[in-house]
Amino acid sequence: MSKPKIVILGAGYGGMMTTVRLTKELSAEDAEITLVNKHNYHYQTTWLHEAAAGTIHHDRTRMLIKNVINTKRVNFVQDSVQSIDRENHKVALKNGEIDYDYLVIALGFESNTFGIKGLDTNAFAIRSVNTARKIREHIEYKFASYNSDPDAKDSDLTIVVGGAGLSGVEFLGELVDRIPELCKEYDIDPNKVRIVDVEGMPFVLPPFDRELANYAQKYLEGKGVEFKLNTFIKEATPEGVKVQKKDSEELEEIQAGTVVWTGGVKANHIPADSGFETNRGKIQVTADLRSPEDDHVFAVGDVAVIFPPNAERPYPPTAQIAIQAAENIAKNMKHILKGEATESFVYKPKGTVASLGEKEAIGVVFDHKMTGKPAAAMKKVIDDRYLLMLGGVPLVLKKGKLNLL
Ligand code: FAD
Ligand code: NAD
Repeated sequence: MSKPKIVILGAGYGGMMTTVRLTKELSAEDAEITLVNKHNYHYQTTWLHEAAAGTIHHDRTRMLIKNVINTKRVNFVQDSVQSIDRENHKVALKNGEIDYDYLVIALGFESNTFGIKGLDTNAFAIRSVNTARKIREHIEYKFASYNSDPDAKDSDLTIVVGGAGLSGVEFLGELVDRIPELCKEYDIDPNKVRIVDVEGMPFVLPPFDRELANYAQKYLEGKGVEFKLNTFIKEATPEGVKVQKKDSEELEEIQAGTVVWTGGVKANHIPADSGFETNRGKIQVTADLRSPEDDHVFAVGDVAVIFPPNAERPYPPTAQIAIQAAENIAKNMKHILKGEATESFVYKPKGTVASLGEKEAIGVVFDHKMTGKPAAAMKKVIDDRYLLMLGGVPLVLKKGKLNLL
């Protein structure tokens, strides 16, 4: 009898952790495991704001998939998923087709521009290694051109960040570290540089602890960031953005050389386009993390939505939950193959830490509030813990942030 085929789509947090855990839960005889990803590398989305600002090189955020997974146990296919044919258990790839008995959809997130005019063409989004690298290059080009291009304007040195959620605030934290270096490198008066954050809500970090959010705002303002709160980005143009204050009719224009949109994320479009029933584009998974329409299909990470028991709002899309859910999926796959009952997923939130550059951060860890250097150190511990779970001590030594070597 042929072995059941397990196919995992996407090598982000959810896909990589599912793959690595499956090779531990199952023996080579139990199943044939295939991982499909559009790049030959896995990147850490949670470090991309650093690569985008240029405070770390993008190679620090990524690793070759073949160096992390057990290639004797897992077939890695580098290809781009186009659609899923649930009826016939097939996945269409850009360069072929693959069939499965069990599927794990882990295709991650896309930037959500909410149909705001011009954002797709005139703003950048922090979404992948490619987009982060482009942002870093673009900002550096604007600074490099300032003293050499006769048409350069002061507003070329303005950076607008759309949204002050966790991604926006973490990116601002990196920018305030990076801009002084760029000014020095390109002989630019730092007073000419503006970093403007536009946030629709009356405060930064809307869902976060208020005391910590105020700490972050004050820290960033102290480093020169201007916050425009209660203000919405209405349009992005080649010259910058048009914004509107709440309860005002007027549009204000902010001229800027760089606009980075961190105003929200949505699920990868492929599950919904392939006919899966979705809740705002996400597969609302069952207690054991399967599609309610098809018990051969699991969904993990930002393509899945999980509601806490008796809650109206789902858990937010985070790497933390993707990693924990992936571990549950690997265990459940083993249970299914052995004919046992599956386990319900129980999320164990450990807290949230947001970096504000290299040496500052805010966070709540196991209900304990932290700021400053201890919080910054905690953030690095969290980053390295993931590497430890994925590839053990060798990966921490190679890619970790605590500079153990
Ligand atoms: P992803 O990490 O998005 O991975 C999806 C994978 O699928 C990628 O490798 C992609 O290349 C691949 N893929 C996509 N489409 C295709 C296709 N068609 N064919 C083949 N492959 C494809 N969460 C936290 O818990 N802590 C944090 O500190 C944190 N920081 C963040 C910082 C930033 C700047 C951002 C943007 C997000 C942050 N998040 C954080 C959220 C977290 O990154 C996401 O929740 C997490 O990445 C979701 O993991 P995932 O595996 O679902 O998807
Ligand atoms: P988000 O949806 O959490 O925040 C987007 C922000 O943009 C909100 O504050 C919103 O009010 C604002 N906004 C939306 N439309 C706007 C407009 N037109 N004009 C001005 N402001 C507008 O998105 P995110 O920050 O990218 O976070 C995505 C997910 O990733 C979340 O689940 C978050 O928890 C997670 N994340 C976690 C961390 C961490 O744990 N350190 C870091 C980054 C992201």
